[in-house]
Amino acid sequence: MNFYDSDRMKDLLKPHGYQLDDNEDDADLIVLNTCHIREKAVEKTYSELGRIRDKINIRKEKTGKKSIVAVAGCVAQAEGKEIMKRSPWVDIVVGPQSYQNLPELISKVDPIKKNKNINIDFPTIPKFDHLKTNIEERGRSAFLTIQEGCDKFCTFCVVPYTRGSEYSRPLSSIMDEARKLIDVGVREITLLGQNVNAWNSNGLDNKTWGLGKLIDELAKIKELKFIRYTTSHPLDMDIELIKSHRDNKKLMPYLHLPAQSGSDYVLKMMNRKHTAKEYLKIIETVRYYNPKIAISGDFIVGFPGETDKDHNSTLSLIKQVNYAQAYSFKYSKRPGTPGSVFLNQVSEDTKNYRLFEVQELLRSQQLSFNKKTINSNMEVLVLKKGKKKNQYLGRSPFNQSVYFSHKNENLIGSIINLNITEAFQNSLTGNIVFNFQ
Ligand code: SAH
Ligand code: SF4
Repeated sequence: MNFYDSDRMKDLLKPHGYQLDDNEDDADLIVLNTCHIREKAVEKTYSELGRIRDKINIRKEKTGKKSIVAVAGCVAQAEGKEIMKRSPWVDIVVGPQSYQNLPELISKVDPIKKNKNINIDFPTIPKFDHLKTNIEERGRSAFLTIQEGCDKFCTFCVVPYTRGSEYSRPLSSIMDEARKLIDVGVREITLLGQNVNAWNSNGLDNKTWGLGKLIDELAKIKELKFIRYTTSHPLDMDIELIKSHRDNKKLMPYLHLPAQSGSDYVLKMMNRKHTAKEYLKIIETVRYYNPKIAISGDFIVGFPGETDKDHNSTLSLIKQVNYAQAYSFKYSKRPGTPGSVFLNQVSEDTKNYRLFEVQELLRSQQLSFNKKTINSNMEVLVLKKGKKKNQYLGRSPFNQSVYFSHKNENLIGSIINLNITEAFQNSLTGNIVFNFQ
């Protein structure tokens, strides 16, 4: 979502004379977009700000020019004042729901008076209504945020506090942005939301539409070839969306559905509002409609009160699902969340060991999922050149990175039929069978 927001900031600032520069050394404006989901991400923000201070000081000495520094995103939202105090070289702090105001905030920065601008409001008019600027280059695969915020209040999570309450963008605004993306050459769209499958809006027939219907409508855009979505919540998996995985050929066979834990006790303490059995039932239904679908997920180890038995239940759930790929994290105490004051916090050593066990199991499942694709043929969207000579990188329908070689200089954006020859932990390699685009 931060990648998406950064792109939108770039589009927003273009009419004001700003252009993206790979090099910070001589930048007039440096925007640091930040994430607050785990503690590590906050630490990274402060260390990056230290690095930025050195860069802007060198520039000022050399050229006499003072760069404007803005901190955006969820750390800005949660720790705005603290950032200004700890890093006085920061001029602007702007939250994820108010970055549409960046041009105005920039214009108010006065280097002599050293005034500071903080804007961390949750505006009543959604930011998307202000983001009507043209879309610039996005490569072949682009993100499109359709839903933001969350009302579920899992006890470990900061999202409801930093991104605000649940909001679905209207259908017309999404369709409009999708067409703009197609016009700049995009062929694959990943729909984004903190709980993307909670998306709902008034449909063309004046009835309430869910994500399944939205995907069907997007699929009517001829030039759009691949559709993905992330992240889903188990409670919002409806049958219409599940059936789309059988019926809609443009919807990729990949579902990211976080479980967090396999223990009903931990799930309850996390306020996930479903049991392990209910999660497994959803996976079973999804596989009934699309037996080939790749299942992914998220896990947290070491949530307060998690015992060895709870941890074993997580390992058992992972074995039952057999994931194609998944993310796992050590529980990180987030200030202001109920989990941070729960008693029975788990020791760092135990968290480390449990994370190791979960990741070992997930890694072995991922490798065997990848290996099963050897000798099969699959359609791959070519995204960019690889590091080696004549090498290209694409993405498989199951969200795997696929490398292949070809002398043709112009394959980026093509859809290639590849025969998979080798499988590794995080990627596949293949040979072109037939280029039909
Ligand atoms: N809305 C999605 C997840 C969004 S947050 C859902 O409910 O499933 C992305 C992931 O970050 C979560 O799935 C969780 O695994 C992880 N995460 C969030 N807060 C965390 C915390 N305090 N400590 C460790 N991991 C966390
Ligand atoms: Fe966070 Fe997801 Fe829970 Fe919402 S549903 S509070 S985003 S983990």
